[in-house]
Amino acid sequence: MSYQVVVVGAGPGGSTAAHFLARSGIEVLLLDKKRFPRDKACGDGQVRSIQPLFKEMGIYEAIRAQARILRGASFGSPSGAYHSFATPDREIFCTPRIVIDDIIRRSAVERGAHFRDCFTVGELVTARGRVTGLRGREEGRNIEISCEAVVVADGARSRLAAQLGFGTAGPEHLFLGVRAYFDDVQGLSDTMEFIYPDPLFFPGGYLWIFPVTDSRANVGVFISTGALRRSGRSLKSLIPWSVERSAIVKARLREARQASPLKGSILPTYPSAGDNYAAGAVVVGDAGSMVEPLFGSGLPQAMTAGQIAAEVITRALSKGDVSAESLSPYKQRINETMGPAYALSATVRKHLFSDPKDLEAYLAEVNRGDDPVLLNRGANETMVHYLKKYKGVQIA
Ligand SMILES: Cc1cc2nc3c(=O)[nH]c(=O)nc-3n(C[C@H](O)[C@H](O)[C@H](O)COP(=O)(O)OP(=O)(O)OC[C@H]3O[C@@H](n4cnc5c(N)ncnc54)[C@H](O)[C@@H]3O)c2cc1C
Repeated sequence: MSYQVVVVGAGPGGSTAAHFLARSGIEVLLLDKKRFPRDKACGDGQVRSIQPLFKEMGIYEAIRAQARILRGASFGSPSGAYHSFATPDREIFCTPRIVIDDIIRRSAVERGAHFRDCFTVGELVTARGRVTGLRGREEGRNIEISCEAVVVADGARSRLAAQLGFGTAGPEHLFLGVRAYFDDVQGLSDTMEFIYPDPLFFPGGYLWIFPVTDSRANVGVFISTGALRRSGRSLKSLIPWSVERSAIVKARLREARQASPLKGSILPTYPSAGDNYAAGAVVVGDAGSMVEPLFGSGLPQAMTAGQIAAEVITRALSKGDVSAESLSPYKQRINETMGPAYALSATVRKHLFSDPKDLEAYLAEVNRGDDPVLLNRGANETMVHYLKKYKGVQIA
C-alpha cells in the first residue's frame, strides 16, 4: 500500500495538514488509533486568532453553530480579587473536542483525504537515511504503508517524534492538565474564567471554568509539573481542593454535579522550536511541543503548524526532493509565524503569573478604575498595556 503522504493522528494538527495536502492534489492518508468521533481532554476553548484559519478551511460556520459563544475573559486571584474583561464585539468559541475535531477531520475527507481510524501506528520505516513509510496494526493485522513523507501529529508523548530523536520540553515547560464537565454550575457568564485559587498554582497554573451551556461548564486545572510536585498534592485533588480554598470557585461549584470522568494529559509548551523535521518527516502540534506557555492553548498552534507542514511538503514533493534540507523551511516558518506570540506569552507569564503578588497588584490596579485603557480592552491587550506602562517591561 502506498500514498504520497501519510499523516499520523487525526487531531486538529493532523487533520489540518491532511486538509491542505488534499486540497493541493496530494494523495494523502490520515490515520488515527481511536474510533472517531473521539473525545480529547481539553478546556474546549478556541482563541479568536484561529478564526481566519477556520474561514480559510470553510469550517467557520459549522464550528460557530456548535460553539458556545463567549465574549471575554475573567480573572480571579488567590486573595479573591476578580475582574471581567468583557469584549462584547469579539467572539471566542467554546466547542467540545468531540465535536470540533470531527468537523476538522471531515473537512480533510471532503477535500479528498483518505481516512482510517482504529489504526495504531507502531513505528516509522526508514531507508537510506530517510523516512519511507510506517508500520502499524489495524483490526489485529500488521500493515506496512510506504510513502514519500510522513506528518507526525500523534499528540503529546509522541512515540514517533521520539523515534526521530526529538526530545520533549524540560520540566519547567511541561504542564499537566485535567478536566471534567460539571452541571448546575452557578453564576456562569459569557466569559472564560481563569481562577488562581492558591499560590501553589504559580508559576503559570490556574483553574478554568469555561461555560459550555448556561449551566454546564468545562472545569479543569493547568499546572506545571514542578508546581504540582512542590504542592505534594495529586492532580485529581486540585478541583475539590480549590472549592475549599477559593470563594469564587466555591460559589460556582457549590451545587454543581460532576457529569463526566476527570480526563487529563500533559501539555508540552513551546521552549523555542527545536528540530521538528527530518528527511521525509515533519512533526506537528503537541508531538512537537507547540502548546502556548501562558494559558496552555494548543489547538490553534497545532492547526497553524498543520497548514505550514502541508505547504512545505507540497513544495518539496513538487521538486521531487523530501530531504531534510528541502523540508527545513518548516522550522523557519514555524518560528516566524508563531515565535513572536510564544515570546509574548512567556513575557506575560514571567511578569504577571510567576508570583501571586504581581497578579494581585495587577488586578488591584485594574479594579481601581482610574486608567480607562485598562478597562476598555480585551484581557491580553490590557496585560500588555499594564506591563509596559506600570512595570516598564519592554514589549515589541
Ligand atoms: C486538560 C487539557 C486542557 C486543554 N485545554 C485547551 C484549550 O482550552 N484550548 C486549546 O487550544 N488547547 C487546549 N489544550 C491543548 C490541546 O488539547 C492540544 O494542544 C491539541 O489537542 C493538540 O492537537 P494535536 O493535533 O497536536 O494532538 P491531539 O489533539 O492530541 O491529537 C493526536 C491524535 O493522534 C492519535 N494518535 C496518537 N498516537 C497514535 C498512534 N500511535 N497511531 C495513530 N494515531 C495516534 C490520537 O488518538 C489523537 O487523536 C488542552 C490540553 C489539555 C490536556
